Amino acid sequence: MHLSLDRLANVTGFGMTAGADGYLYRPTQVEEFHQILALAQQTGRQISLRGSGRSYGDANIGSESILLDITRFNRILDFDPTTGLIYCEAGVTLEQLWRYTLESGFWPPVVSGTMFPTLGGALGMNLHGKNAFKAGPIGNHVTEIEVLFPNGNQETLTPEHPLFHQVISTAGLLGIILRVKLKMKRISSGDLRVLPISIPNWDGQFRVFEQEREQADYMVSWIDCFGRGKSAGRGLFHAGYYTVDPSPNPITLRPEHQDLPDTILTYFPKSIVWRFLKKLNNRPGMSFVNWAKYTSSRILGNGRPHPQSLVGFSFLLDYVPNWRLAYGSSGFIQYQTFVPAEHAPRVFARQLELQQAAKLESFLGVMKRHIPDNFLFSHAVDGYSLALDFKITERNKDAVWRLAHQMNELVLLAGGRFYLAKDSTLTPEHFAQSIGMDALETYAKLKTTLDPQAILTSDLAKRLHLDPRA
Ligand SMILES: Cc1cc2nc3c(=O)[nH]c(=O)nc-3n(C[C@H](O)[C@H](O)[C@H](O)COP(=O)(O)OP(=O)(O)OC[C@H]3O[C@@H](n4cnc5c(N)ncnc54)[C@H](O)[C@@H]3O)c2cc1C
Repeated sequence: MHLSLDRLANVTGFGMTAGADGYLYRPTQVEEFHQILALAQQTGRQISLRGSGRSYGDANIGSESILLDITRFNRILDFDPTTGLIYCEAGVTLEQLWRYTLESGFWPPVVSGTMFPTLGGALGMNLHGKNAFKAGPIGNHVTEIEVLFPNGNQETLTPEHPLFHQVISTAGLLGIILRVKLKMKRISSGDLRVLPISIPNWDGQFRVFEQEREQADYMVSWIDCFGRGKSAGRGLFHAGYYTVDPSPNPITLRPEHQDLPDTILTYFPKSIVWRFLKKLNNRPGMSFVNWAKYTSSRILGNGRPHPQSLVGFSFLLDYVPNWRLAYGSSGFIQYQTFVPAEHAPRVFARQLELQQAAKLESFLGVMKRHIPDNFLFSHAVDGYSLALDFKITERNKDAVWRLAHQMNELVLLAGGRFYLAKDSTLTPEHFAQSIGMDALETYAKLKTTLDPQAILTSDLAKRLHLDPRA
């Protein structure tokens, strides 16, 4: 194997604000992973791991590095339909998982708002879902990982092994996850009972999350970031509850029941919807869209539970293909902060005020409830997260970064955390303060033993001083 110029490719994070050229390799066999490691050692190049490229910022790109894309290493190796234990290569996606197991009555224990992440990428970031307040992150449901370390060792780790909680969550910087055993969630129906509740302000948001916490299986709330004064924090909360279908072969467990329709409002092909969204993708347009969504939420279906497929409820963002193109050529960033429950009402309210004062309101706000976990770079706290999408233009870029840094300060004062999958703006100091010196020292020691030549990197690792070579 050698490094040739025809391998050069330009890849970006999902938000399209960060891109890099690298040498792209897509292995299909374990031996090729070993060969790529050897190639990096011979040539002095570093390696950046990449799954489906769904992290928004610069975690899945590495300038001038070898881009090790795992998406072709994607076989399901074993599935036990009595226990729900599935054994897969790390390039298997959440979509592959549900399509393979649903008819046997199983669903992935934790999913993101899109079905395209790979298991390797999902565990690199330790992603959470709308059930984070009960199920924690996806790593909580993994029973085994096989990891290839840059020092040449290949190890099988179970949750009892200290490295298990250190490799998962550290953004692909300590080892390459090759194979995963995951415990799927048993379900009897492919439909949830979904309860929408229109919420007038922040008080209402926090109240409803605490009220529904015991009964609900999933909770998420959309926030209109243009709401101000008494209406600040207004939005639409959804709780999802598993249902029971006693029939022997429920129709709801078939993929054709789950598949998202090709059209929106019966007539519009979904493939062209992003072009309409693009016309509205500016401050007045999105202020109107948010207002219209909130206003209709007060009337349409408010407080009335209805059935919805697991796919429809979980992967709302996959309804509109290429929706990110609506943000235009300079892309967008997602910014998600995690704040302890007692401080979240004040911090989120202030984050919104800062956006409004700067006339840089997020076009989309999403709130979730979380519980802590013991992974090394855990982003979770016993509290809430608020995810915000900011359109980036040549003109506003510096102002958005300034705003993000102001919002970071509030989060840090409250003892909050950040999520590397959504990050573009953190400084090394902010990251160190949030994760704590103990975690950083542990990481540094592990990096020296597991990856002594600092082969694994990314542009995020360089930006946050997690790459000793940088
Ligand atoms: C529309 C949308 C909705 C989303 N919703 C959510 C959500 O609800 N909850 C949530 O938590 N996240 C969410 N995300 C973020 C997404 O789940 C994470 O970014 C996830 O890591 C993406 O997986 P990927 O396969 O695309 O990995 P990539 O983005 O390509 O890589 C992610 C990280 O994993 C590392 N990595 C890749 N492969 C391996 C491997 N084999 N071993 C070790 N490390 C590896 C990479 O180096 C990188 O640091 C969302 C993203 C999008 C675009």
